[in-house]
Amino acid sequence: MIVPSLQYAARILKTADTRHLAKFMWNFGVKGVRSVNLFKKRMKEGIYFPPFIYISVLNSCNLRCQGCWVDVDKPQVKIDLENLNAIVNDAKQHGNSFFGILGGEPMMHPDLFDFFAQHPDCFFQLFTNGQMITEKKAKQLRQLGNVTPLISIEGTEVVANERRGGKDVLNRTLRGLDNCLENKILTGVATSLCQTNIDDLLTEKWLRTLIDRGVHYAWYHTYRPVGPQIHEELALTPEQARKVRQFVVDMRVKLPLGIIDAYYDGEGRALCPMATGISHHISPTGAVEPCPIIQFATENVHESDSIYDTLTKSEFMRDFREVAAKNTRGCIVLERPDLVKDLAEKHGAQDTTLRKQAMAEIESMTSRNSQWLPDGSEIPERHPVYRWAKRIWFNDFGVYDQLDAGATQPEPVKAEEEEKELAGV
Ligand code: SF4
Repeated sequence: MIVPSLQYAARILKTADTRHLAKFMWNFGVKGVRSVNLFKKRMKEGIYFPPFIYISVLNSCNLRCQGCWVDVDKPQVKIDLENLNAIVNDAKQHGNSFFGILGGEPMMHPDLFDFFAQHPDCFFQLFTNGQMITEKKAKQLRQLGNVTPLISIEGTEVVANERRGGKDVLNRTLRGLDNCLENKILTGVATSLCQTNIDDLLTEKWLRTLIDRGVHYAWYHTYRPVGPQIHEELALTPEQARKVRQFVVDMRVKLPLGIIDAYYDGEGRALCPMATGISHHISPTGAVEPCPIIQFATENVHESDSIYDTLTKSEFMRDFREVAAKNTRGCIVLERPDLVKDLAEKHGAQDTTLRKQAMAEIESMTSRNSQWLPDGSEIPERHPVYRWAKRIWFNDFGVYDQLDAGATQPEPVKAEEEEKELAGV
């Protein structure tokens, strides 16, 4: 464990631009930790403002991935530079310094680099398919120094084309990846594990290929069967979800590579980042959503000049977090689509999709497994640094106490019983 960790630190120092690394350590490291501490302090006062805001800057994309929930085939909508800056400036005033930038394909946003340049005191994780990161763009990213591209690879050559609805997908993505690495930018590779890529990409061999290429970190998501074409056949079984968790824990102690996950605390207990309140999402139309795949909202950034006020005052967001935390440690969308429907109807939430199919899609979903391992088995971190860091800065912050105590959400009281109760009978 010690040797791979030291090798990893040495590799980062050798292969990342020094100024860029310093910005990462300060804007994401030091200020990121401060924003989580602020989040924890506010939670104690019943105020929820996520330290990590994910912004989908536009819907357009050059690929057509299976299971994508974004309206990539619709006319382009985007959050303009003025509103992007307004969101980040307000969030900065409340202690935030790290933002996830998504799409569609965010590299298609015409003002993306101006946006990054206007926030040198922040750090951005760019969720991209990498295909538009030319050598020139990579040089610009290095110059900016405050962006880490997280490049998604969904399979080996044939599977990549199938999964992403394109031609020569893997090679074009690898070119973008190499441009980033050659320009000494901290770069990660993400995979949405599913039936067609798990055998190739959930392997030590694949991670060693990434290390040899110079990749700095990896992130395994698990395929979410949502959106207009859900491809449920691609989703992982509970046994596979468990295999993913075990593999990640084991590779963290064995390989000189950082591996991110957003679904487990240091003890291996499952969690949902939305339910804990640590992250929420803004859609390409400016809708303020619980998370990217919950395409319902009651607020929009274009109707408010303070994302802090919008998020801390939202009854919809508060109710969503609480109902999710009372019912599952996993994904409310996969496990309890019925509750997502109920919450959207209860709050009269808008369908935030351009296709206006969000309710039909959620109604068509059947409950299925997610990251909360069915047998309740928990696989704790073996690497002490991950265990320690998660214990302080990435855990459930106590939101599941009621669920863990076995007091699940009470059955909704039937109308006539309520009348009786009200009548004191
Ligand atoms: S609701 Fe599901 S997809 Fe959304 S943050 Fe929670 S676990 Fe992830």
